[in-house]
Amino acid sequence: MVRKVVVVGGGTAGWMAAAALGKALGTRLDITLIESDDIGTVGVGEATIPSIQEFNQMLGIDENEFLRAVNGTFKLGIRFIDWKAPGSEYFHPFGVYGIDMGVNFTHHWMRYRKAGGNADFGLFNPQTMAARSHRFGRMAEINPKAPRVNYAFHFDATLYARFLRRFCEGLGVVRHEGKITHVNQDPNSGDITSVALEDGRVMAGDLFIDCSGFRGLLIEQTLKSGYEDWSKWLPCNRAAAVPCDKVGPATPYTTSTAREAGWQWRIPLQHRTGNGYVFSSDYISEDDASTLLLQRLDGKAQAEPRIIRFLTGHRKQMWNRNVIAMGLASGFLEPLESTSIFLVQEAIVTLIKYFPKDGILPSQRACFNRDLLAAYDNVKDFLIAHYKVTTRDDTPFWAYVKNMDIPESLKFRLEAFAQNNQCLVQGDELFKEASWFAVLVGQGMEPDSYNPLADVMAEDEFRWRIDRLREGTAGLASTMPSHESYIARTCPS
Ligand code: FAD
Repeated sequence: MVRKVVVVGGGTAGWMAAAALGKALGTRLDITLIESDDIGTVGVGEATIPSIQEFNQMLGIDENEFLRAVNGTFKLGIRFIDWKAPGSEYFHPFGVYGIDMGVNFTHHWMRYRKAGGNADFGLFNPQTMAARSHRFGRMAEINPKAPRVNYAFHFDATLYARFLRRFCEGLGVVRHEGKITHVNQDPNSGDITSVALEDGRVMAGDLFIDCSGFRGLLIEQTLKSGYEDWSKWLPCNRAAAVPCDKVGPATPYTTSTAREAGWQWRIPLQHRTGNGYVFSSDYISEDDASTLLLQRLDGKAQAEPRIIRFLTGHRKQMWNRNVIAMGLASGFLEPLESTSIFLVQEAIVTLIKYFPKDGILPSQRACFNRDLLAAYDNVKDFLIAHYKVTTRDDTPFWAYVKNMDIPESLKFRLEAFAQNNQCLVQGDELFKEASWFAVLVGQGMEPDSYNPLADVMAEDEFRWRIDRLREGTAGLASTMPSHESYIARTCPS
């Protein structure tokens, strides 16, 4: 019987796990969370994807209250600069709408494009058009009949953990501050029975959620679960991160700019801008990356850049014995598509689905590991595609990623896409066909053909509908207020 749950770690992962378990199963669980102020949290992780809305809804959190507490802004997608080639750019929006007829709009756009239509896919996408004019508004408030403009958030990760802590304490989660110095295991089963803090306190549990960050205190340091290293495909292994003063209105999107040995993020918050240079130490030193990052900020740096080291990949077992790893303790995929917090959410929802209330069954553990590995795997392919599909080879880093061998699963997807924009996605993957399309076309691939269903509509009607769609998209974006004024009205910090 699982009654006592101990969450090790009070970063984003730890507090998200405690909040969701407390909300969904709280009446039958005693939840304890242990965090060390001396060790602290990784403190970055400021951009999200739309699934975070569902997480808030699951907890019953008011979106405006949340945004006020975390100095949050809205995010319509990611603007990629210089990825295809220096001087190029494209937008990866959250979602795509338009003519359907049983086939994704990207196929209709291919028909239009092959007939000489405008090469700018963004003209048909409300998120892209709103992002370009720095506008945002929830369509449910502006025009409930209009297509839903999907969005996510940027937020201050430290404030988010604080916000969730208050929420958890309201649910009865008990927090202990202190450093775990010893982990006790059952001599027969190997299960973890308790953790001991530096000051002698001992916390016993039936189930342990390891959210201790990259160190993986329980999952790796104690249980030696092993690590699958993906750095040959995703060679970035460092980030230099620094906040800077805000200059100008907050953009409703994240910016990712390709750099000589990786890429740089720019994440606008209400009170400051988050920045980081994600790079491979095989191609640039930590000092040079930090210097270049500082030179490329658009506001005054608020600190010296902090270097964060990581190895892309995941634990071979994310649920091992009575320990379930989440967040950085379970693995890490670089933040190119802002997926880490989503993967925490996925781990939480999957754990609740298979929760071992009457004791752990091998099938629960196996299903959890299978589902989480699949989630990591699918995101991995998508991230690698950003590097592989480029025309750049102007630096040793870009020459490596352009020419590197890639996983068979991605080879298959790219071949199928090149033929007819098909077979990109299997089942319920996080990144849908439209996301793959935006990135692959943005980076220079164009399929030879498309699904013939997109040719069924008569030419006159097709022309009429596609013209109306383009006008409607521009019109929709223009009904939104500026992003800044919308925040000032609905959720100022
Ligand atoms: P941490 O924040 O490291 O927390 C670990 C916790 O464990 C801390 O509370 C610490 O005190 C505690 N702890 C550790 N050891 C002990 C011990 N011995 N005793 C007691 N307590 C202990 N994700 C996104 O979704 N979007 C992004 O834009 C994004 N950007 C990122 C950029 C970078 C460079 C990096 C590295 C990550 C990024 N992430 C992003 C990931 C995101 O930051 C993490 O997924 C998220 O913050 C979860 O971190 P965590 O809680 O697992 O670990």
